[in-house]
Amino acid sequence: MKILLKNAHVCHDAYSGFRREDLLVEDDRIAGFFGPGERAPQDCAEKDLTGCMIIPGMVQTHVHLCQVLFRGLADDLPLLSWLKTRIWPLEAAHDRESTYLSAMLGITELIAGGVTCVCDMESVRYADEAARALAGTGMRAVFGKVLMDYNDTPEELGGMPKPFFETTKETLERAKELIDAWHGAENGRIHYAYMPRGVLTTTPELFQELIRLSKENHCLIHTHACETEPESLLVKERRGATEIKYLDRLGLAGENLLLAHCQYVDEEDLNILEEKRIGVASCVLTNLKLGSGIAPLEKMRHRGIRLSFGSDGAPANNNLDMFQEMKTASLLQKGVLHDPTAMPAEAVFDIATMGGARVLGMEHEIGSLEVGKKADLAVLTADGPETAPLQMNAAMLVYSGNPHMVRDVMIDGKWVYRNRTFENLDLERLHEEALAAQKRVAEKVL
Ligand SMILES: [Zn+2]
Repeated sequence: MKILLKNAHVCHDAYSGFRREDLLVEDDRIAGFFGPGERAPQDCAEKDLTGCMIIPGMVQTHVHLCQVLFRGLADDLPLLSWLKTRIWPLEAAHDRESTYLSAMLGITELIAGGVTCVCDMESVRYADEAARALAGTGMRAVFGKVLMDYNDTPEELGGMPKPFFETTKETLERAKELIDAWHGAENGRIHYAYMPRGVLTTTPELFQELIRLSKENHCLIHTHACETEPESLLVKERRGATEIKYLDRLGLAGENLLLAHCQYVDEEDLNILEEKRIGVASCVLTNLKLGSGIAPLEKMRHRGIRLSFGSDGAPANNNLDMFQEMKTASLLQKGVLHDPTAMPAEAVFDIATMGGARVLGMEHEIGSLEVGKKADLAVLTADGPETAPLQMNAAMLVYSGNPHMVRDVMIDGKWVYRNRTFENLDLERLHEEALAAQKRVAEKVL
């Protein structure tokens, strides 16, 4: 199957600008670009995109799709009470259907916002329901169930609901079932990753086993680290080191480790992140809304630390909008450092695309539009007053871009969103079912 996307303004990557070109997709991959005057193939389907822009699909590297159903139920709380009084009880009360609907809400929001790949940390149970939603919608994803075999978080700092407890053996057995069913599924569109929740809920034995298993199964390890000051201080007290140093001592630090947050980091932590090439998933809006702090992103960027962005949980954000993440990440660093040149637009858009691909180990497949790479892209229109007079560049995307500009989305060479509509999906019905499921789950615990 060949399709020629004609007459668009194409952005190959964050630093290339936009060029007037035709883009050829053959099956699931990009097969060529044809500038004005160059002869494009005639033997293929065509789609005229005059006046439109094509950008690489964006990559979100830390999202909890299982929490999207709880949007609006946990506002204006600090992280640990947000977790203890709302998110953990709600997650523990999920049933199969509510988990599936939660994932569907999140995936449709991400796709409609130009995101074509997500790293999804699910809850302890029912992660297969999220995988089912990822498979059905056409989304590219790395997903995993949360692994927790130890609770070292005292009651006053969070505690953990009983349904979350699994032994090391149980948690690994459930992860194995998911790997067997989903790792590399859907033409390689879905991958599994080991996702221990954090240092205080994982035994050293489980971490050690994950090092071995991640090598054996070619999986990423994804966990939270250095998110809030109280938790980071507690880790120091209990483990005698910061989270990053502790993980390094255990032997986890490396290219296949992806850490969400990384806010409370000292110079030694930064050295480890840099030298061991650990990936960072920064969640700027969540960290702000939960009052958790501001990560030193510009400093990390200058050190060449591998950065990416994630929206984290919808109840902590309250949406999964990559445009907002990009703009806020840039403006915060400019404001904090009193430096308008900090986090320039091209660098920020690169983090949102190639940065995500790199930390997921997919930089040879996605993150930019190149011949031979997967056809994961978003078609944008910009006819609203917020972008007029239109300048097609990274600054427009980062500082005045928004999800409403996204008209069509292709993942793995297939249209998953066309003319702002999902085929074979009644969005209105999904929203009604999700509201009923939210009510059902919330009534059990709130
Ligand atoms: Zn998280």
